[in-house]
Amino acid sequence: MVKIVCVLYPDAAKGHPTSYARDSIPTIASYPGGQTTPTPKAIDFIPGQMLGDVTGELGLRKFLEDAGHELVVISDKEGPNSALDRELVDADVVISQPFWPAYITRERMEKAPKLKLALTAGIGSDHVDLEAAIERGMTVAEVTYSNSISVAEHTVMMILSLVRDYIPQHDIVRSGGWDIADAVSRSYDVEGMQVGVVAAGRIGLAVLRRMKPFDVGLHYYDFHRLPKDVEEELNLTYHPSAAALAQACDIVSIHTPLTPATDTMYNADFFAKMKRGSYIVNCARGKLVDTDALVAALQSGQIAGYAGDVWYPQPAPADHPWRTMPHNGMTPHTSGTSLSAQARYAAGTREILECFLEGRPIRDEYLIVKGGDFVGTGAHSYDVK
Ligand code: NAD
Repeated sequence: MVKIVCVLYPDAAKGHPTSYARDSIPTIASYPGGQTTPTPKAIDFIPGQMLGDVTGELGLRKFLEDAGHELVVISDKEGPNSALDRELVDADVVISQPFWPAYITRERMEKAPKLKLALTAGIGSDHVDLEAAIERGMTVAEVTYSNSISVAEHTVMMILSLVRDYIPQHDIVRSGGWDIADAVSRSYDVEGMQVGVVAAGRIGLAVLRRMKPFDVGLHYYDFHRLPKDVEEELNLTYHPSAAALAQACDIVSIHTPLTPATDTMYNADFFAKMKRGSYIVNCARGKLVDTDALVAALQSGQIAGYAGDVWYPQPAPADHPWRTMPHNGMTPHTSGTSLSAQARYAAGTREILECFLEGRPIRDEYLIVKGGDFVGTGAHSYDVK
């Protein structure tokens, strides 16, 4: 018997949904580039229904209990007496999500001697202490690509919303107003602007592809260069650093994983290098950005607008300055947990668990850390050695 502790965001205050806006979601068999969507042996949920909250349980309970395993699903994750700390001590597997991150620290690992697998139901395993996991020989896996396109769509929405200044215009309508001069006083067209992504992995490249029809100039920086045919197809300008890209762009979208090398790399120095009136979108991780320096750059007008769905810490406290800073288009951490994305990462979580429980290899692209080193996607995207 294996004990699996699963930390998910709480049900909505009004309760787990009992009806849905749509009856079904499209079936997607593969991602750009050909990687197949998750291939568990079966699923016990209806795609398009809420799976990511505590009641949704990622649709895992029947499968795990039928096989004689123990599943504990909780949302209480903060502080030394949290349910997470109590349940983790004899757990074999912990499942957590970036949206409601259960920080799997070295200290927590040390109190959980049986812990063998930290599984991210989504993408981005920075909430796990990867160095500690390497030292302990633990496996860290995530459902690579499961919500990359979801995030790319959210990013494009935010780029358009910021540049056209959509949210204040909508607020005017909701409050019964019609002050067009005020509504357009910060509104521009995206057409002709220079748009850059820092990191052109699965999400960054999908953002570039989606922005191409807007007739913008496209730029990227990544420490892995894209294939030449992709650079030519999208007419990309490659920059040797994030700072060089920022100097050339009007809009910068951030898509790097959070690692020791990228922690707060978007700081006062970085903002000062950007053109006055630039826009930044960050759907990668909140801690990539210096919280107070960003507020100052928006207040001074150096940055014209900032949007994203990632914060530090999460959940963001009620007085987090990014909730009220000028010209922000923030959302809670939602881009990768649309109902569509949930179906894929729930199926991928089950696929990984099936492999783990049956002693079969986990797909290479799902692996971040295994056998004492970065492997698979971890070796490509996280290893900064
Ligand atoms: P990916 O592994 O496909 O791509 C990551 C890219 O980052 C790689 O191309 C890698 O070469 C590049 N990179 C890493 N460190 C870099 C650095 N210091 N400088 C330049 N490039 C660097 O991952 P992805 O699917 O595109 O996801 C990217 C990140 O987005 C994740 O790590 C995660 O933090 C975040 N994410 C957020 C959400 C959300 O809901 N907001 C969902 C999924 C992923």
